[in-house]
Amino acid sequence: MCICVNCQWVDRCKTYHAVEEQHGVKHLTTNPDFQGKDPKIHISVMDLKQGECGIEWDVRTCDSFKEDNGRWQRLRPGEEVPT
Ligand code: SF4
Repeated sequence: MCICVNCQWVDRCKTYHAVEEQHGVKHLTTNPDFQGKDPKIHISVMDLKQGECGIEWDVRTCDSFKEDNGRWQRLRPGEEVPT
């Protein structure tokens, strides 16, 4: 799971913006203005139906992570939290 969903910077972060881009999802912001320090992104390839594959990007560690549990969910109430 991407740690960004519980990070104070998630709606300002350039790295999370790039993760959203890779997942093809709606951005939390169109103008991210914060660059986290040394985020480490884990990329995994998953098998999908009918022989296709998908790529999952997750930030696993980041020196700028600042815990704010449930921040993403509060920004998008009622939507499913990205995993
Ligand atoms: S953990 Fe790092 S990459 Fe993720 S939102 Fe926070 S600052 Fe950005």
